[in-house]
Amino acid sequence: MTGRCCTTDGHEQTPAVAVLVYYGQGAILGEPLCRDYVACRASGCDRIGAVYDGDYREPYCQRHAEQFPAGEAPSGPDIVELGSARHAELLADPDTRTA
Ligand SMILES: [Zn+2]
Ligand SMILES: [Zn+2]
Repeated sequence: MTGRCCTTDGHEQTPAVAVLVYYGQGAILGEPLCRDYVACRASGCDRIGAVYDGDYREPYCQRHAEQFPAGEAPSGPDIVELGSARHAELLADPDTRTA
């Protein structure tokens, strides 16, 4: 675990801006990722994504994720910005684990 740097190969010096969050018995904090890996893939949008499409390995923000036809929407894991209110909530939750 390299703290707050991106876990992608070759990005050991790149600061992470968000972390993937999986849900099972509680929340599981997964890989920290840099902005390149979590920015929404929709053209013209560079917001940090809210959901990471595990099948295609592509992140989308909430607005663009909602534009997918029913059944084709990205299904997670969630993307949570480091330092966001949601991130603080997850860290404070005793049921949250680290992958
Ligand atoms: Zn990276
Ligand atoms: Zn977007």
